[in-house]
Amino acid sequence: MAVPIMQAVRVGAYVVKQHLKRRQRYPLVLMLEPLFRCNLACAGCGKIDYPAPILNQRLTVQECLDADTECGAPVIAVAGGEPLLHKEMPEIIEKLLARRKYVYLCTNALLLEKKLDDYKPNPFFSWDVHLDGDQETHDASVCQDGVYDRAVAAIRKAKERGFRVSINCTVFDGAKPERLAKFFDDVMAMGVDGIMTAPGYAYERAPDQAHFLNRQKTKQLFRDVFRLGKGKKWRFTQSPLFLNFLAGNETYHCTPWGKPLRNVFGWQKPCYLLGEGYAATFKELMEDTAWEQYGTGNYEKCADCMVHSGYESSAVIDAVKRPLHILKVALRGPQTEGEMAPEISLENQRPATYNYTEHVDSRMKEIAAKKAATRKVVVNEPAE
Ligand code: SF4
Repeated sequence: MAVPIMQAVRVGAYVVKQHLKRRQRYPLVLMLEPLFRCNLACAGCGKIDYPAPILNQRLTVQECLDADTECGAPVIAVAGGEPLLHKEMPEIIEKLLARRKYVYLCTNALLLEKKLDDYKPNPFFSWDVHLDGDQETHDASVCQDGVYDRAVAAIRKAKERGFRVSINCTVFDGAKPERLAKFFDDVMAMGVDGIMTAPGYAYERAPDQAHFLNRQKTKQLFRDVFRLGKGKKWRFTQSPLFLNFLAGNETYHCTPWGKPLRNVFGWQKPCYLLGEGYAATFKELMEDTAWEQYGTGNYEKCADCMVHSGYESSAVIDAVKRPLHILKVALRGPQTEGEMAPEISLENQRPATYNYTEHVDSRMKEIAAKKAATRKVVVNEPAE
């Protein structure tokens, strides 16, 4: 099983508890982005296109712990940027694990071998290594040769040391089902504990806009891949119903509050993928976001999204409501034949709005003002 049984039980119990409390919206996974800075510049990334003063910002250890306290989700995914560039990352992870949270540390693995000694294997902890496909595919995706080999070497080393390791595979237009299926075989043979996969989201700031999948292509691609995987026992870290959704068999509406994101700007509205505004607190995010304005069918920027940020939580909530359905899909695997589930109409979606420049300008002014204030304090401090 890709997700340890205790984790599945605890997350299931958490979801049931939220339903019993009649909470309309609740988080399942806290997404923590303690920095945007990265040591790669991938063509499909929408996270690193910030001016240097913003890339130099970091969440402190205490800010990360406070985010966990505010949010209370049972699972935490630490992403970025590249989290291993954050000097205090071992302390952040240790303290989150001490709170008995299930922590996934996402990394491109370039620094993983060098940093392994800073971490200890723990049943609550997993490395989540970015690998978008076989050597040629991944190196093209991250725009640098040799990254696949280094990531694979690091995965092997981490497994030798007793760590849990999953891979995070983002799929783009042009992916060939046979190649992707062979890649899943290869990572299983490497001994990884699980695969997390999804189509890439068309970030408006991503340098390469030509290779994002639309919904129809996504569904057909995953159907073809899952058909090739029948009987192969690939282990996924995702709900069987989310995989069934990727293969076009579920009509889910987005649940963006299921994976709320805290980064150096605050709590991002409405999801990991879209930065349409920021809240100062988790409570403010949950209460003041106009959630009904987002999701496929509601907003142009959401039209082609099938990413786990919004739809995995929909699948998990559905599993609680329809336990027999998830049992059936878990036993048989995602459906790969027959008619697909109806698609959500885009007829009434609102047009996209763009606020990146305004947002970045205001952040830059804040950073400059803070810097000036610090300088003033230092200048005004009396000499000893
Ligand atoms: S559909 Fe949901 S997860 Fe996807 S971009 Fe829109 S709000 Fe975010």
